[in-house]
Amino acid sequence: ETAFDTDKEQILHDNLDHTLFSWSKQAGLNPISAERAEGVYLWDRDGKRYIDFSSQLMNVNIGHGNQRVTEAVAAQMRELSYVYPGMITKARGDLGRKLAEITPANLTKAFFTLGGAEAIENAIKLARVYTGRHKIVTLYQSFHGASYGAMSAGGDPRKFAVDSQAMPNVVHVENPYFYRCPWYSATPEECAERAAAAMERIIGYENPGSVAAIILEGESGTSGCIKYPPGYWQRIREICDQHGILLVADEVMSGFGRTGKWFGSDHHGVKVDLMCMAKGITAGYLPLGAVMVDEKIAHHFDDKPLPLGLTYSAHPVSCAAAVAVLDVYEEENLLENTVQMGRYLDERICDLMGQHPSIGDWRNTGLFGCLELVKNRQTKEPMAPWNAAPSQMEVMNQVMAKIRELGMYTFVRWNYIFICPPLCITKEELDEGLAIISEALRIADAHVH
Ligand code: PLP
Repeated sequence: ETAFDTDKEQILHDNLDHTLFSWSKQAGLNPISAERAEGVYLWDRDGKRYIDFSSQLMNVNIGHGNQRVTEAVAAQMRELSYVYPGMITKARGDLGRKLAEITPANLTKAFFTLGGAEAIENAIKLARVYTGRHKIVTLYQSFHGASYGAMSAGGDPRKFAVDSQAMPNVVHVENPYFYRCPWYSATPEECAERAAAAMERIIGYENPGSVAAIILEGESGTSGCIKYPPGYWQRIREICDQHGILLVADEVMSGFGRTGKWFGSDHHGVKVDLMCMAKGITAGYLPLGAVMVDEKIAHHFDDKPLPLGLTYSAHPVSCAAAVAVLDVYEEENLLENTVQMGRYLDERICDLMGQHPSIGDWRNTGLFGCLELVKNRQTKEPMAPWNAAPSQMEVMNQVMAKIRELGMYTFVRWNYIFICPPLCITKEELDEGLAIISEALRIADAHVH
C-alpha cells in the first residue's frame, strides 16, 4: 500500500479506494471530506465551512455537535452498552413512553429497528400478518428505503436497477401533485378528490379484500416535497375504513418537527394504524428507527407471537440518544422555531421568485421545502426531468457545483433544490444560505426561454 504525504490524502484515498459510495458511479467522485460540524455548519479538511441546508439527509434536525446528546450516549455506554432485545432497559422504556406521548393517542407501542427501511419492512410484515392480506398500495413518486421490500414499495426510479427481483404484490398509483396534476385539476381540492378517486378505482380492480395497507409518506420528501392537497388524507382514510385496509404513515423524513408539528400527518388530523419513523428520532446521532402501532394491532399480539426480531432492536445506546434528542426538541422549542423560520423562509422565497424566472414552484411546510426549477413558467418544462439522464443534468450540475463552491451543502435532485436546514436555524443563517442559492440560481435563469 502506498503511504500518502498527508493525513488528508490518506483519508481521501482510504475512502475512495476501499469503500463504496451510495447511488453513484464510483469513478470520478469528489465528495466533501468532512472533519467537524457544529450547529448548521460543517467544515472540511481544508477548513472550508459549509452551511448545511438539508440537515444532511433531512435527519440532523437538532443541528450538529449537540453535546447533551454526546453525554447521554457516553453515560449509557459506560453503564450498559448492549443487552439482547428480550431484556428491559430504562432507555428503551423512556423512549417508548415518550413516543406514545408525542404520536396520536391510538398509537401505543413501538417496535425498534435500525433505520427507516427496516421500519417499513416491519410495517409491511405486520400489516400482512394482521390483516391476512398481501397487497400494498403506495404512490409512484415516493421513497421508502433501499432494502428489497422498502425499495419495491417506493416508486422512486432508483429501484429500476433491481426491478427484476422486486417484492411482489405492490400496486402503485399516481400522486396528488397539484403543480403537475395528472388529472389537470383547477384547484388543489379537485386534484385531491381526483387522485383519491383514482386510488379507489384501482383498489377496486385489484380486489379490495386483498389489500393489506396503503403506505403514504407523512409528507413527501425526496420525490420533491409534493404537498398533499386539502382533503386527500381524509379521503384515503375513508377508503381504508370502507375496505378494512390499514393506513401506514411513513414519517421517516417528515417526522420529528420537520414540518413544524411532530409528524407530517398531524397536519391532516387523520388517524393512522401504523407509523414508521427514523432519521429525526435521533437526529442522526446514532442509527435508530421504529414502527408505532395502533392499540388494536398491539393487542392482536397479546396472545400470538410477534413475528419480528433484530439483534439490535431497542439498542440501549441508540434509545438513550433518542431520549436526549427528544428533550432537545422540547427544551429548545424547535417545533415553534420551525413554524417561525418556515414563515420567514416563505416570505424570502417569494422575493426570490420575483428575481429568478427559473423558480417554477416553491413547496414548503415548516422547514421541509423544495424549489422546483423550470425552463419556462408557462409550459412548466422542468430544468431536468424526473429520472434525468446525466446529459439532462448539465444545468442542474452547474447549479449544484456553484452551491458547493459558495460554501453550502444541500440535497439537489433532478430539478429540485431542497431547503431543509436544521430546525435550530436563525433568520441570519437562513439569509446567508438563501444568498448562496440566489447566486447559484443565476446559472439556471440563463437557461430559461
Ligand atoms: N422512508 C422515507 C420517507 C425516506 O425518506 C427514507 C430515506 O430517505 C427512508 C424511508 C429510508 O430510511 P433509511 O435510509 O434510514 O433506511
